[in-house]
Formats: sequence, C-alpha cells, structure tokens
Amino acid sequence: MSRFERSKLLVQKYGGSSVATPEHIRKVADRIIACQAEARHMVVAVSAMGKTTDQLISMASQVSSRPAGREMDQLLACGETIAVSLLSLALQDRGVPAVSLTASQVGIRTDGSFNRARIAKVDTGRLVHELESGRVVIVAGFQGVTSDHEITTLGRGGGDITGAALAAALQAPVCEICTDVDGVYTADPNVVDTARLVPEMSYEAAIELAASGAKVLHPRAAEICMQYDVPIHVRSTFHRRQGTWIRGGVMEDAAVVGITSDKKIAKVTLLEVRDEPGLAAAIFRDLAREDVNVRLIIQAAATHDRNRITFVTDNDQVDRIKELESTWRKRHIVGEVLVDLDVAKIAIVGSRIASTPGLAARMFTALAKVGVNIDCISTSEMKVSCVIGRTDLDSAVRAVHAEFFGTSRQTATRAAGATKRPAARKAAPRKAAAQKTTGATTRRRSAR
Ligand code: ADP
Ligand code: ASP
Ligand code: MG
Repeated sequence: MSRFERSKLLVQKYGGSSVATPEHIRKVADRIIACQAEARHMVVAVSAMGKTTDQLISMASQVSSRPAGREMDQLLACGETIAVSLLSLALQDRGVPAVSLTASQVGIRTDGSFNRARIAKVDTGRLVHELESGRVVIVAGFQGVTSDHEITTLGRGGGDITGAALAAALQAPVCEICTDVDGVYTADPNVVDTARLVPEMSYEAAIELAASGAKVLHPRAAEICMQYDVPIHVRSTFHRRQGTWIRGGVMEDAAVVGITSDKKIAKVTLLEVRDEPGLAAAIFRDLAREDVNVRLIIQAAATHDRNRITFVTDNDQVDRIKELESTWRKRHIVGEVLVDLDVAKIAIVGSRIASTPGLAARMFTALAKVGVNIDCISTSEMKVSCVIGRTDLDSAVRAVHAEFFGTSRQTATRAAGATKRPAARKAAPRKAAAQKTTGATTRRRSAR
C-alpha cells in the first residue's frame, strides 16, 4: 500500500485514434509505463477503439429507424468497456499492476439524460483504493451511471469529459488529453497544413474554440477544468514533446486564437411564420422538447405579417424537425420548412473579436477573394461565424487562416490581428505543479 498523494497523480485521457488497434494499445501501455517514472499514481480514461462508436451507431440504425435513449447508451458504452480491458491486459502483460473500471464501477454519477448525460459527481473511494494498492486505474471514458444504476453516455467526444471529471474529482495537478495531433492548433492541422501549434491559451478561448468545432477537445472538459482550476495539457500520444497548455492566469489570448469549422450542421428556414407574439416561443419550445440544439437564429423583418426564421442545428437532428413541420403546419404556425444540408460553418475565434475593429471585414474579404458566398453571419465578443456552402469549407478555412496567420509554419504566440505585442503572461498559479508532474518545461518561440 502506498498512501495517495495528489501531487504525485497524473490523469490522462487517450482518444479513440490513440487506441485504434491492438498495436496502438500496446504502444499506449508502453507510454503509460514511461510516464510512471514521473508520476507515482496514474488514472487513465480511454475512448472506444478507432471508429467503434460510429460502427455501433450504424448497426443500431440498421435495426431501428430512430435509435436513441437507454438501449443506445447500453450499446455505445460497450466500445469503451472493450478498450479499457484490452489496455489493462496489455499493462498486466508487461508486469504492471492495472485494473480497468467502467463508469459504474467507479461511480461516475450522471443525470438520466440518455445520450447526453451530465456528470453530477464522481466517487473517488474506489479510485483512491486502487491507486493506494499500486495499480494503474484505467477508466472507461464517455460512460456514466444514474442513481438507478442505468448506464448513460455523455455525448459524442465525451471521453474528454471523463478525463476532466476524474482530474477535477481527484484534484489532480494536470489533466493530459493525449491525442493524434500535437496540441491545439490555429486551425485543424488535417485541413490547413500551415496551422500553428498554440503553446498556451485560456480556458475561455479553449471552450469557445471547442464549442465552435475544434474537435480536439470537448468544451465541457474545458469547462470542468476551469471550474476546478485543473490545467489541461493537450498533447500527442505518439511523442513526449510539449503540446498546448490550457489554464488560468493567461493574461491575454490572441485577438484571433484560431479558425474553426463545422461540417455537421444543417440550416433550417421556416417560411411564412405568422407575425404574432408567442409564435417564436412556441416553435423553440417544440424544438427544445424534441431535444434539438439550436445554435444561430436569424429572424428577417416581417413582410405582409409573415416572418422568416432561419436557424442552424446539428445535421443528425433534421428528422426531428421534419416531424415537427407537420404539426406546425396543422397549427398554421409555419407555411413551409426548408432544410439545407449542403452547408458548413466557419468561425474566427478569439478574445476581443467584436471590440477589435476590422477583424470581421478581414474575414469576409478573405472569403470573397476565394469566391465564397456567405449565407448567414453571427457575431459575439469571442467569435464571428459564417454559414457557407459545404463544398467551399476547406478552401475557406485555408484562406481565412492565411489572412490571420500567414502561410509559414510557426508556433503561434503572437496575437493574430493585434496591433500591439501581447502583454507579458502571468504564470498560472498551478503551473509549477503541473510541469513537475510531466517533467517538462513550456517552450515559447516567437511567431513572427
Ligand atoms: P481523439 O480520438 O483523441 O479524441 P479527435 O479526433 O476527437 O481525437 O480530435 C483530434 C482531431 O481534432 C485531430 O485529428 C484534428 O483533425 C481535429 N482538430 C480540429 N480542429 C483542431 C485544432 N484547432 N487543433 C487540433 N486539432 C484539431
Ligand atoms: N467513443 C465516443 C465517441 O466516439 C467518445 C469519445 O471518443 O470521446 O464519441
Ligand atoms: Mg475526441
């Protein structure tokens, strides 16, 4: 037995691409063993292997026209259960004591919203007991359990949320998100080959980037770590170089931190909506009841007592909207519903987007130069998003990225779009502890 010491704990999360094959799993086991030289206790959250979750969803849709709810979570949770047992076997095979645990065995307690459950609490008793017994604890990501012992899942990409929740519950000095890229870049490095690794950013910037489509981190993982003041280190599974630190104490992010894109959207236009108080409320209440996420709403001015309402939603939710259409028409709320799936969203995300003059104009000019037509625009203090044609997306992302970050390959430390040098960065309160655990120092290079 070795007494549990938080300062000697390393919490890591490995994504599906990191454990895609048995060979990948053996390599992750070797990596965990190498990390044990620096961390006495290790808790590792793991996602399902490769495309397992997609394959399970596809199988479900071959037996059901609307696969959802409890049975779907029973099914999807299996992907992670397979991955954790294999990783634990690989560690044991190397002589390392390890134990795999499902969310239910740990006590990752969630509400009962199947397919998108939220974590209420993580019990730490079993985790601490296993750590004190000298085992590496391998926890199934993405899963949860309700107070009625029902299995839930946290939503796609939810393995990150598990990693963050475990780190928060155990008050770990760092939560490492180990993935197939070197960290958070100024754009998806698989789309923009000149995208730059961002060495450090605030929780707020990471949440906004993630929420607008940077798939590398789940926004709810960054929210949990912000709330519990746990630094996140997004880094590669395949080497030990520094990635991106997300933490408190970052005095100023770049004006434009990154360019995000999202292909999994649909644009819905409601035509001939009666111009009466309470109708928008009725429409969006119906959408909420059907669990439809609505991300951008535009209402055009009324003509002849009829409005046009456009909104953006996830492309896998259009069936529910089509079902609502007939009830709206029967109630004479809406004339017609148009659904456009050939769209995508591009955004510039940063810290002072709305209050820095000219950034939106630069984005629109870059899009115009490559002949991209903008369908809808929305702005907030932290981003400008445009809905554009789906086939234009990759060229649009490259053009907007070139406008704000140039075309050379360098690490992004300079505030893109800013006119002054960024202010000196204050050390994060827990930086020393985090770096000690990973045994590394943050390297900074000038971008321009
Ligand atoms: P994991 O399987 O480890 O959870 P994901 O596929 O969910 O990994 O996320 C990693 C992917 O996120 C990368 O392969 C990359 O294509 C994509 N990505 C999108 N935007 C960004 C960004 N700004 N920085 C880094 N990666 C990004
Ligand atoms: N396996 C789940 C998914 O594919 C969770 C994750 O990968 O983080 O969405
Ligand atoms: Mg992921």
